[in-house]
Amino acid sequence: MSLAICCDFDGTITLTDTGKELLDSLTDKDWRSIDQLVIKGEIGTRAALIEQWGMIEHTTMEEIFSIVDTIEIDPTFIDFYNWILKNNIYFVILSDGFKNYIKRILEKHSIKSSEIEIKSNDMRLINNKISLRFQTNSCEHDCANCKHSHVLNIKDNFDKVVYIGDGLSDILPARELADYIFARKNEDLALKLKSDSRLIEFSNFVEIQKFLEELISM
Ligand SMILES: [Mg+2]
Ligand SMILES: [Zn+2]
Repeated sequence: MSLAICCDFDGTITLTDTGKELLDSLTDKDWRSIDQLVIKGEIGTRAALIEQWGMIEHTTMEEIFSIVDTIEIDPTFIDFYNWILKNNIYFVILSDGFKNYIKRILEKHSIKSSEIEIKSNDMRLINNKISLRFQTNSCEHDCANCKHSHVLNIKDNFDKVVYIGDGLSDILPARELADYIFARKNEDLALKLKSDSRLIEFSNFVEIQKFLEELISM
């Protein structure tokens, strides 16, 4: 059976959400209230990210990376990722974060970021303000990075799609397109899809690997 594993980055591979850590450190403004608008369905994540990252008046890459360098990944992810490589399973990171910090965090944990497919947003600094770089066009859901369209493109080439995530931007692609949904225990994705029969709540990647080992041996 051929599997495609689509995996969120922040709060899923990492133990904390890099974007939230950055916003907490770099602005005193109320960026969390914008998340509430997304939860209520009033705005999409594209409008939300533009609003939230726009709240940072002034920063530097040194400042950004000093915060990024405190982010830890789930230690069980390393073995899981090596298992994926050994079994030649298709794996892609789908993230509403920025490619530059995703690569930096992976490298810091000795994972060769050039060998992982990463579909995310990116950013650069213009006059010490964060300027967002979206890699997908605007979509009907007003996603920043349309994870739904990425999974849709991938889906036809595999027997089963496994989605691993934790947050708001994972709800739509997981609900609409996944065969198996692994959601971080008690986080937004798990809470939203509580009654979905495909939902498996997880605390670490050992649990996911065990499940998938059985699945591919079937
Ligand atoms: Mg996340
Ligand atoms: Zn979308």
